[in-house]
Amino acid sequence: MNSFRMRLTLILVAMIGIAVLAAGLVMGKVYRDNHQEDLQDSMVREMNIILQDVPWKQGNPDELYGYYTNEAKRIEALTGTRVTFIRADGVVLGDSDHDPKTMENHSTRAEVVKAKTGSVGRATRFSDTLHENMLYVAIAVNKDDPNSGIIRTALSLKKADESVKRMWTGLLIGLLVLFIVAGLVSYRIARNLTRPLEQITRVSKRIKNLDYRARVDFQSNDEIGELGSSINAMADSLQVQMTRIHQNERQLATVLDNMINGVVMIDAAGKIVLLNKMAEDLLGISAREQVGHHFASVKQQYELAQMIQETLERREHLREEMTFYFPEERLLDLNLVPIFEDDDDFGGVLLVLQDVTAIRRLERMRSEFVANVSHELKTPVTAVKGFAETLLGGAVDDPETARSFLQIIFDESDRLNRLIGDILELSKIESRRVPLLFSPVELSSFIGKTVELMSAEAVRKQIRVSTVVEEGLYVEADEDRLRQIIVNLLANGIAYTAEGGSVSVVVEPVHDPNLTLDDEGQENYEHIRIHISDTGMGIPKKDLPRIFERFYRVDKARSRSSGGTGLGLSIVKHLVELHKGTITVDSTLGVGTTFTIDLPVLQ
Ligand code: ADP
Repeated sequence: MNSFRMRLTLILVAMIGIAVLAAGLVMGKVYRDNHQEDLQDSMVREMNIILQDVPWKQGNPDELYGYYTNEAKRIEALTGTRVTFIRADGVVLGDSDHDPKTMENHSTRAEVVKAKTGSVGRATRFSDTLHENMLYVAIAVNKDDPNSGIIRTALSLKKADESVKRMWTGLLIGLLVLFIVAGLVSYRIARNLTRPLEQITRVSKRIKNLDYRARVDFQSNDEIGELGSSINAMADSLQVQMTRIHQNERQLATVLDNMINGVVMIDAAGKIVLLNKMAEDLLGISAREQVGHHFASVKQQYELAQMIQETLERREHLREEMTFYFPEERLLDLNLVPIFEDDDDFGGVLLVLQDVTAIRRLERMRSEFVANVSHELKTPVTAVKGFAETLLGGAVDDPETARSFLQIIFDESDRLNRLIGDILELSKIESRRVPLLFSPVELSSFIGKTVELMSAEAVRKQIRVSTVVEEGLYVEADEDRLRQIIVNLLANGIAYTAEGGSVSVVVEPVHDPNLTLDDEGQENYEHIRIHISDTGMGIPKKDLPRIFERFYRVDKARSRSSGGTGLGLSIVKHLVELHKGTITVDSTLGVGTTFTIDLPVLQ
C-alpha cells in the first residue's frame, strides 16, 4: 500500500483513538464520581437516622467505649455498614469492626477534618485492616457545634469498583468496536483522498517514460482536480510539441536523404555524426557502420581525410575538386565548412559533396564543340578568302579561271551557309527552344510527299526510291520535324549510294505483345517502325557507335564531296528523342545501310 495513504490512515485512526480514549476517561471519572456521590448521600441519610436513634453521650471514655462500640455493632448488624463514633478531639469512642482503644487518633483523617467544619466529609482510602478500598463519609453530630463529635460510616468500594470495572470493560469493548469502525472509515477517506494523487503520480511517471498519451481522468473542483487538469494541459502541450519535433525531424531527414548532394557532419573531435544517403553512395560507405566512428577509420581517399584534418585544425572553408576511383570513377566537388555554434563554439566540420562528373564532361563537350565549330567554319572561310585573293591578284583577268574560282567561292559560301544553318538548328533543338507541335500524321501520304521532295536528287543520281507503307497508319508527331528526320536520312542514303542503286522506306506498326483488339476488331499498335535502307557503300563497324556525334564523319573527303556538314545524324537523333523514340543503325560495308526508327504512336 502506498505509504502516504498509510500515514494518512494512521493519523486519522490515532486522532479518533485519542478522542475516543479521552471521552472514555472522562465518562469513567464522571460515572465513578456520580456513583460515590449517590453512596455518600445515602450514607449521610443513614447517619442522620443513626443520630436520631443513638443519643450522643459525653463523659468518661471508659464508659463510653462500651456504649458506642455496642451501638456501632448493633447498627452494623442492621445495615451492614461499618460505623465509627469519634470524639471532637479525634479519639475513637466506638467502632463496629475494631476495638476503639487500639485505634489511633482520627483527628487528621481527611473526612473528619472536613466534617468538623460542618459540611459532609468524604474520603476514599485503602484500608490496611480490611485490605480493600473504602469510602468514608463523616458528619458532625451537631452541625453548628465544632466540639460536638463526629459520626463516620465506611463502605467497601469493592462493589462500586466492580461496577466501574464492568463499566470500563463495556466501554473498552465499545471503544474497540468504534476504533475498528473508525479505522475502516479513515482508510476509506484516506483512499478517496489519495487515489487522485496516486493517479496523478502514475500519469506523471508515464509522461516521464515518453508516453505522452497518458491523461488524468477524474474531475473535481478542488486543488487536486486543478493539479490533474494542469498535468493534462502539460501533457497536451508536450504531445503537440513532440509531434512538431518529430515532424521537423522527419522533414529534416527527408530533406537530407533526398538531397542530390552528399552531406557528412563531423564533430570537433573528428567523429562522424551524420552521413546522408547521397554521401553513402558517393563515398561507397554505409552510415550504419561509420556514424559514431572517427573519420580517419573510414578507408576512403587519403587526401579527403587530410582535408578534413586541415579544416578541423584551421577552421576555415576549404574547397577542392577531387577524382575518386571508389566506388566508381567520379569527379567530386568537396566543400568543407567549419561549423560554429551559437556562442562561436567550434562544432566540427560539414562536408558537402557534389558529383560534378557530368557537369565537367558537358563543359568539356561544349568547349570541344566550340573548337570543332571554329575549325569547321575556318575551312570554307579560308577557301573563300584564298580564291578571292587570287582573283584580286590578277586571275580576274582570265575569264575562264575567274569563272571557275567564283564557282568555288559560291560553293564554299553555300556550304558555310548550310553549316551555320545546321549549327543553329542543332543548338535550337538541344536547348529545346522550339516547342514541338504534335498532331496525328497519316504516314502513307506523308511518306509519299516527303520522298517526292528528294526525287530530283534521286533522279539526278539515277537512284530508285521505293516506299512500302500500309494505308491508314497514324502516328502523333510534329510533322515538320518528322519530315526533317526522313529527309535527312533519305539525303544520306542517296548521297552515300552509288549511281544506279536504290533506297527504300518501309513503315510498319509494332504490335503490343499482349495483342489487344480495338472496337473495329483491328489489332492495336503501340509503336511505328520506319526503316530507311540503301544499297550504298555502308559504314565500317568501328565507326557505327560514333556516327550520331556532332561533326563525326566516316570519311572527311567523301562527306565534303557529298556536301555534308557532319551534323545531319546528330540532328536526326535529337529529333527522334524529342518524339520519345529511338534510332538504331545497321550496316554492312559495300552492301548497304539501314536506319531503324521506333516512334510511340501516342505522345
Ligand atoms: P554528313 O553531313 O557528313 O552526311 P551526317 O551526320 O549526316 O553527316 O552523317 C555522318 C556520317 O555518317 C557521314 O559523314 C557518313 O560518313 C556516314 N553516313 C551517314 N549516312 C550514311 C549512309 N546512308 N551510308 C553510309 N554512310 C553514311
